[in-house]
Amino acid sequence: MRLPGDFNPGSTGGYSRDDAGGAQQLLQQGIALLADFQARLAAQATDGVLVILQAMDAAGKDGTIRHVMSGVNPQGVAVHGFKVPSAEELAHDYLWRYAAAVPARGQIAIFNRSYYEEVLVVRVHPELLANQRLPGRRAAEDGQNHLGVWERRFREINNFERYLSDNGVHVVKLFLNLSKDAQRKRFLSRIEEPEKNWKFTGADVRERGYWDAYQSAFSHVLSNTSTKWAPWYVIPADSKWFTRIVAAGVIANALLDIDPSYPTVEQEAHASLKAARHQLEAEDSMGKRSSKTAARKAHLRGS
Ligand code: ATP
Ligand code: MG
Repeated sequence: MRLPGDFNPGSTGGYSRDDAGGAQQLLQQGIALLADFQARLAAQATDGVLVILQAMDAAGKDGTIRHVMSGVNPQGVAVHGFKVPSAEELAHDYLWRYAAAVPARGQIAIFNRSYYEEVLVVRVHPELLANQRLPGRRAAEDGQNHLGVWERRFREINNFERYLSDNGVHVVKLFLNLSKDAQRKRFLSRIEEPEKNWKFTGADVRERGYWDAYQSAFSHVLSNTSTKWAPWYVIPADSKWFTRIVAAGVIANALLDIDPSYPTVEQEAHASLKAARHQLEAEDSMGKRSSKTAARKAHLRGS
């Protein structure tokens, strides 16, 4: 797969934003479906869902998370943002900090950036690899251009995701595919509108200078890590409203695949519920009786 040619960031799938019964309603349906299925997922507690979001800056990761998850019980969802790794994180193997945030059964975790940065930003800036203090033996094998590192990491990531999926964690990977021109416009509006200034840093424009290198790194990621057990979904990101509809749809679809249901109470459990009810009711009538006796005694004492 090759970016930017193979996928159209501007696509809106034939929908128009103002199309009355269209876009908004679709998003609301997706959100409602998600809320319902998330509640069942939590009750069934056999499977977890790991949603991975990767994109260029300003593609709308944060807004997508905010909108798509707006109807879901916050107790069932955790969002983890991954930034430049700390000294402690760098002292560990590169999957360590991500593995620690994998969702429990019944939970949804959203990774805002993920271990894919290890084959994206680190590939675009290979000097970052030096901070990771990989054994020299490997570096020598990999040769000057570190080509082997990325292939090895693709294999490791595929294995990691297969391990997760075999053990009940469904991995849903979303690439928000933004065009270079849409990024330019969004950066400009972050500069021009004071209330958006905080979202903008000089680093954003510096990284934009590596646009082609990122497109190439993303192409390698899509070609090498889209697997049967953890496929990538490439979502057009030039229209935010459309990005959100598709993201909600993809995540809802993953939950539909799991099809979680509320656990049914078996006969035995029914019997024990019944016994518990008798006990609680008996306590109540005993309580009434003993408080009546106490009242009578007090009356006799003349108090
Ligand atoms: P925002 O929408 O707020 O800008 P963001 O995800 O871009 O959110 P930033 O703090 O702007 O957050 O940037 C995080 C930075 O951390 C990115 O530039 C990203 O490339 C970098 N980063 C993430 N993971 C790694 C990693 N494993 N190694 C090196 N850099 C990383
Ligand atoms: Mg940023």
